[in-house]
Amino acid sequence: MCAQPLALQFVHGRERPVCSACGHIIFLDPKVSALAFIIRDDRILLGQRAVDPGRLLWACPGGFVELGEDPQEAARREVREETGLECMTMRLLDVFYGVDTGVIVLAYLGRVVGGRMQPGDDVMTVDWFDRDHLPELVFTSTTTLVSRWLRGELP
Ligand SMILES: [Zn+2]
Repeated sequence: MCAQPLALQFVHGRERPVCSACGHIIFLDPKVSALAFIIRDDRILLGQRAVDPGRLLWACPGGFVELGEDPQEAARREVREETGLECMTMRLLDVFYGVDTGVIVLAYLGRVVGGRMQPGDDVMTVDWFDRDHLPELVFTSTTTLVSRWLRGELP
């Protein structure tokens, strides 16, 4: 704020960067991500990632929520960008917290309402998979949701 160097100080219960001149405290926030879990005709919509983390592995369409963006809209936007499909978000299924990444993932149940399937953004292939022919999955959020689906608990 005032262009003076920051230093770590113990304030409000943990170490935080604090301005040595004006005392401004930097509160570091977690990243928030939103995904859509989409089933149609008992098949799940998955995208194959073109980039790391998880390059070549498959996950539910999703990504980071922008500042000022409704997370449900973020989920719909990510579906549009990664799969070319338009979807509705029906309800919140679960919230995941990545201990290793610090990322909070909001998982919504989605339903396709239009569009034309075409991979985009950081997804190289997009497809529907039935229970018996699932590809190799990545991310705790996707693997947990798929496990529940296989057990008949979702959607
Ligand atoms: Zn300052």
